[in-house]
Amino acid sequence: MIFGALGLVALIALAVRLAGGDQVSSLHHLYLLPALWAALARGVTGGCLVGLVGGLVQALSIFPLIERAGPSWSAVDGIVSLSTPLTLGLAVGRLVDQSHGRGAQLDALLDIQRSLAGQGPLGQRLAVVAELTRRALGVDRVRLVLESGGGDHVAASAPEDFRPAETLPKVAATPCRRLVLPLDAGQGPAGALIVEKDWDLSTATRSAASALALHLTLAIENARLTERQRHFAHELEEKVAGATRRLRELDQAKNEFLTIASHELRTPLTALQGFSELLLTREVPPDRARRYLGHVHMESKRLGRIVGDLLDLSRIESGRGPDLQRVPLDLGEIIEANLEIFAPQHPRHHFDWSGAGSAPPLCADRDAVDRMLKNLLSNAIKYSPRGGRVRVETGIAFDKPGMVELSVEDDGVGIAAEALPRIFDPYVRVSNPETAAAPGLGLGLSLVRGLAHAHGGTIEVESLPGKGSRFRVLLPG
Ligand code: ADP
Repeated sequence: MIFGALGLVALIALAVRLAGGDQVSSLHHLYLLPALWAALARGVTGGCLVGLVGGLVQALSIFPLIERAGPSWSAVDGIVSLSTPLTLGLAVGRLVDQSHGRGAQLDALLDIQRSLAGQGPLGQRLAVVAELTRRALGVDRVRLVLESGGGDHVAASAPEDFRPAETLPKVAATPCRRLVLPLDAGQGPAGALIVEKDWDLSTATRSAASALALHLTLAIENARLTERQRHFAHELEEKVAGATRRLRELDQAKNEFLTIASHELRTPLTALQGFSELLLTREVPPDRARRYLGHVHMESKRLGRIVGDLLDLSRIESGRGPDLQRVPLDLGEIIEANLEIFAPQHPRHHFDWSGAGSAPPLCADRDAVDRMLKNLLSNAIKYSPRGGRVRVETGIAFDKPGMVELSVEDDGVGIAAEALPRIFDPYVRVSNPETAAAPGLGLGLSLVRGLAHAHGGTIEVESLPGKGSRFRVLLPG
């Protein structure tokens, strides 16, 4: 292209010579054209070069004219027309270079925004941004430092090993100029852009660096906002998925509950119907009749317990809570009374209770405490099917000031860690091949938790599969 412009200069020189030789004519203005062309196409270098050649070609005819005719208006005109191609080439070339520079910076900014909006660790993305910034500004070294929250910083350099703080004390082989610009979006500096160039930084580079620092700040803020939004959306998605999973589990648990509940209710009902029919339709000897009545009594109590549990749970679930009559209780006496019932019925289990006198004073609903203990004891027995030790303890909870604890520990099948958070939810039963035949509705523990909460207390569990479980009810003393 430069050669094209130079060819045009030659053509114009020929035309000028043919048109009148060495007179300064309006044809001299044509020398502006190749200078303009070169400046537009090649910037300041092309414009200056072609403008200079245009001027020199004119000088060949203008200087002899001045020599011959001496200083005259025509000579002045000639000198002006000689220098204008160079001036025009320089001025237009600079404007073109500046606009190319701006265009390149805008492209770089787009690339920077794209890299910042990408995936991956922020440090990695900053490294790409540092390299793009270095190229856009035409400097030798760039470092970006950003606050990443909590007083921490993320930094990246181009080239990678550029560490301004460490290079400071060294005596550099080449003198260089460094510019440190704060990255500030109006809420205080969020980091800094450090640019370094061997020898010196031009004014144009400095102002380009300042403009880029401002754009960078906004792009980084944007990227951070997008990241926060992405994180938030991801969290929300996980929460929704968790809630949906939970609802499905509850739905499944409810369905299972219906199956189990109908079975659990039918068992005592069948027994009640069977024995009462026998007593009504047959002549039964008095001792056998008494035995049958005993069964009827036991099964009706079982039925009553199931219905009672269901009613209590529905009260607790609807937020009404059970009616509590808080009275001073002798916890030791309640434990002993329960052990007297359970121990004879479960000879394969050894019941361990450190004895009366150790129980701290407690003000609570007697029936509620009794039902909590019964549920925990029957679970301890149910879920240690091969027999074993059941240990009951009570005392002041030293880790929870003002609380009285009542714990039931067994060395049964235990509970898998992933199931532990669910066992206090209603209708939830944890499947275990060893205890698959154990009756239950998955209501006991949710009832115990509901009763404990109604007292302002709580329930905790520790368990290891195959080793056993320990349930601890904490009630305000
Ligand atoms: P249910 O005993 O009627 O199934 P619960 O609400 O009392 O209902 O218990 C919920 C689940 O927690 C049980 O199905 C069982 O898997 C587990 N679980 C409760 N207590 C124990 C225990 N002492 N040892 C092992 N697992 C237990």
